[in-house]
Amino acid sequence: MEYIDLRSDTVTKPTPEMREAMATAEVGDDVYMDDPTVNALQEKAAEMLGKEDSLFVPSGTMGNLLALLVHCQRGDEVIVGDCAHIYVNEAGGMSALGGIHPRPIKNQADGTLALDDILSAIQTEDVHHTITRMICLENTQNICGGVVLSAEYTQQVGEVARENNLSLHIDGARIFNAAAALNVDVKELVAPADSVMFCLSKGLVAPVGSMLVGTKKFIKRARHLRKMLGGGMRQAGILAAAGLISLETMTGRLGQDHARARILFEGLKQIRGLGLDASPSSNMVYFDLQDEVKLSVNQIVEEMKKRGVLVDWAGPRRFRLVTHYWVDDAGVEKTLEALAQVLK
Ligand SMILES: *Cc1c(COP(=O)(O)O)cnc(C)c1O
Repeated sequence: MEYIDLRSDTVTKPTPEMREAMATAEVGDDVYMDDPTVNALQEKAAEMLGKEDSLFVPSGTMGNLLALLVHCQRGDEVIVGDCAHIYVNEAGGMSALGGIHPRPIKNQADGTLALDDILSAIQTEDVHHTITRMICLENTQNICGGVVLSAEYTQQVGEVARENNLSLHIDGARIFNAAAALNVDVKELVAPADSVMFCLSKGLVAPVGSMLVGTKKFIKRARHLRKMLGGGMRQAGILAAAGLISLETMTGRLGQDHARARILFEGLKQIRGLGLDASPSSNMVYFDLQDEVKLSVNQIVEEMKKRGVLVDWAGPRRFRLVTHYWVDDAGVEKTLEALAQVLK
């Protein structure tokens, strides 16, 4: 069966055009920096984000970890949202591998960290305290609903960072979704950041890989640490070829996924038993099951699968549905029909 797969935008398989480009990519040994396709991807990513340089990494998790390792020393502290992927979903890498201490503060419902909360989390110089070194933002903020942080807000956090001699890193796994939702150039969204990670492997449809972006000096150090972590990938141009197509053809179409997420949201509102979050800002729709629904989330997952739709729960009574390149209007309609049937 051809499934409609709304579990995540990570499920996006490469397009025929990507597979063709991968098959014919010019390659070299990227550890020698000899792979022309990787080099082209890195140049293009840096240029699009308005930064000096960039590095192709196997995953977003490695990209974020590299940023933490470059900006921080062991024992340093990082201010991070309590709903941040870096804090919740990266297996504690910053502590386990970097000896870096997370200082979680509350993510507001709109995905931001309140400026006052950031300011009061910055450690004062005292023999008892860690040294605050870095602030991490996430845009779009996944757990808060795929919500979008504005350029103005990011600018304000950038000022706080500069005034307090801190680095600012953006976990921009879906930064192009944020740019599309706000209708701004992605450069503007990341201008205040010292480093940014974004994923090619999610809404941008490439099979593998993420980009870490920053100054030349930052990337030079990150390249060294990437090798240390085992992320030197040799003929990686095979993968970078797909990433180039992501940057060229996928960044401009994300608005379509957002429009479909809104159609899905409107349809879900018509189905009894669902408590929906606010209208989606990007490509994610979150909802809760109300008490009248007697099925468990796992039963719903199973029943949806029988009807050709893959969904995943996000909590004991909560779902997240994600639209992407391979979900068209018919897919949205089929999803709504299936769910209405399952909950009847
Ligand atoms: C997916 C994701 C990552 C990590 O990317 P992987 O490639 O899965 O390691 C980091 N941050 C956010 C917000 C993500 O959604």
